[in-house]
Amino acid sequence: MGIAKNIVYILCAFLLILGLISLAGEVFYKISYKINRKRRKKLTPEEKEALRSKRREEFLKIATQHCALRNTMDRGLKVSDFTMDQMIEMYKEDTKEETIQMAVKHLGMTREEAIEKGFVHGSTQVSFEVERRRESKKLGREIDHKDLLDIYRERLANSEYPGPDCLEPWEAKEYIKNNKWPGEDKTAHIESCTGCHIMVDMEKPVVYPPPGPDCYTQAELDQVVETGSLSDGRLDHKNYCQQCKNKLSSSQQDFIQKMVPNQPYHPIDFDMDFGD
Ligand SMILES: [Zn+2]
Ligand SMILES: [Zn+2]
Repeated sequence: MGIAKNIVYILCAFLLILGLISLAGEVFYKISYKINRKRRKKLTPEEKEALRSKRREEFLKIATQHCALRNTMDRGLKVSDFTMDQMIEMYKEDTKEETIQMAVKHLGMTREEAIEKGFVHGSTQVSFEVERRRESKKLGREIDHKDLLDIYRERLANSEYPGPDCLEPWEAKEYIKNNKWPGEDKTAHIESCTGCHIMVDMEKPVVYPPPGPDCYTQAELDQVVETGSLSDGRLDHKNYCQQCKNKLSSSQQDFIQKMVPNQPYHPIDFDMDFGD
């Protein structure tokens, strides 16, 4: 009895200390953030821009490394067989090729035209051009990419979602959990509102069939988190099993996160608050 009590005390003390340490860290961070913000406020506009672009660059660097790791694993290759630079090079090559092929398919260009016009930076670039053409046709005049962004911005500002009848996320959760609306019946509303319809759909849990004998074991998934890869031949299973494909992808994501942590900044520092 006495020992159990002691263990509880020790555990409580331990948790208390842990809590205090993290609280102290948070307070310390906020104070240094405020001091830095004051310091940053005194910077000239050029210095501010330089700082911002440095931060953007760092962020881009991390994002590129993430994409390069993801690309290597999606190709079924072992991350340990390459250097980061090689993986980035491979990712850029793959992106380039994918973009060119998309431009050929969706923009009716020849391969040479696509390269010449610089369609090498990713599928978003092609989708954006498709949209630009569609909007130009609709408006009856040629618009450029900046105009398209302005149109998007305006639409977002004028969007009616969320309206007064729209669901709160917790209502969607409750509805899915109990198969019953917590307040008034919103069935008619979700049928007519795309935003709410999507929200309810997203709350629905994914139901998988029970795992088969070939399915990835927890030990295998742990191995992916640790090393980024599986034993030879085991990768193929994901092509036949959606459940394992998802699990594999999420373990790979954990591995990527471990290799290149993507939170170099505290969230409140992320937007570079200059106090202006
Ligand atoms: Zn709604
Ligand atoms: Zn499986």
